Amino acid sequence: MAERPPLRIGLIGTGFMGRAHVFGFAAAAKAFALPYRIELHTVADVSEAAARAAAAQLGFRHATTDWRAMVSDPEIDLVDITAPNALHREMALAAIAAGKHVYCEKPLAPLAAEAREMAEAAAARGVVTQVGFNYLCNPLVNLARQMIADGELGTITTYRGVHAEDYMADPAGPFTFRHDPAGGGAFADIGSHALATAEALLGPITRLMGDCVTVIGTRKDASGAERPVKVDDVGRAFLRFASGASGSIEANWIATGRKMQHDFEVYGTRGALCFSQERFNELHFYSTADAAGRRGFRRIEAGPEHAPYGAFCPAPGHQLGFNELKAIEVAGYLDAIAGKCAEPFGFAAGHRVQTLVECVHASARDGAWVDVPGH
Ligand code: NAD
Repeated sequence: MAERPPLRIGLIGTGFMGRAHVFGFAAAAKAFALPYRIELHTVADVSEAAARAAAAQLGFRHATTDWRAMVSDPEIDLVDITAPNALHREMALAAIAAGKHVYCEKPLAPLAAEAREMAEAAAARGVVTQVGFNYLCNPLVNLARQMIADGELGTITTYRGVHAEDYMADPAGPFTFRHDPAGGGAFADIGSHALATAEALLGPITRLMGDCVTVIGTRKDASGAERPVKVDDVGRAFLRFASGASGSIEANWIATGRKMQHDFEVYGTRGALCFSQERFNELHFYSTADAAGRRGFRRIEAGPEHAPYGAFCPAPGHQLGFNELKAIEVAGYLDAIAGKCAEPFGFAAGHRVQTLVECVHASARDGAWVDVPGH
């Protein structure tokens, strides 16, 4: 086999997602025949100690506190942004201007206009982009999409989606970047995942009616100062799809006891699907084709028939984990960089999700249904 070209990574941020991306790169390199040899080149963080510690533990050759110098380094091919949301735009635009491919965590930017600017800049510069909507990389979510597209459920009538966790349930928890009045809140943070999944399964949302609620009105910031919280802790939206189906979504980051309820239910005239991310190696399928008296939801367990599960494990039921979704995300992205496929979820798709989030906020503010731009 010919020697593969290197793809030199510059990572910004070494927190939850920074580490998850490195695990994703590492597992992807073992599980898939990637078109590139991944080189962990430089890692950037605000503190030198954090950057150095991450470089040593995660295997980067260099550590820096200067992300600007890193993104213009000619030795870097791909800039990977896992910093807080408000920094995504500036970092991505700088990387795009330097001709780098850009992998950026969701939400792509606090505002849809910024996300659009980023998508347009990437298209104009001809670089390949990816946004971290990792739940779409689950082989069983893809199976659900395929079953819906193939008509196994008949005509889809209704959709229910939710993304609920409890990481903001404690009122004594600090004011973080996720509470930033420009683009923060539960719907931007996790409702974005729910919206991406809803459209991946049922196609475009054309109209929606939102309702957003702030439950915990103040939080202390890092300096101990009390800060007002203006963003939503809970958001809901009624949805109308271009297909004619209707549905609803809830985003809730104060859902006590919930750790990862990225769930959906899809109902059709001939069947139904139920899925929970807390048991994401299972998909539940009900079919009206089953004999009367034998009907019920059957549990489909993930296995090698559900590609690319078999790249990680030959045995069904042994289960994939969160970081393996990141590895699948990385593999699809690298194939797109190599020109083997279209961007799986590039900046244009990230802009679309941000547009939907803004529609939910606008509808909640105005107390009225809104038409989603672009449809
Ligand atoms: P985090 O706080 O754990 O990590 C953020 C990192 O960015 C920290 O290491 C911080 O020091 C660093 N950072 C901040 N400012 C910086 C700067 N100027 N230069 C360099 N580094 C800087 O946060 P997180 O939970 O990893 O979230 C980061 C991003 O990932 C957010 O956009 C978030 O929405 C997204 N996220 C996505 C998922 C997912 O499932 N796809 C899950 C969690 C978070």
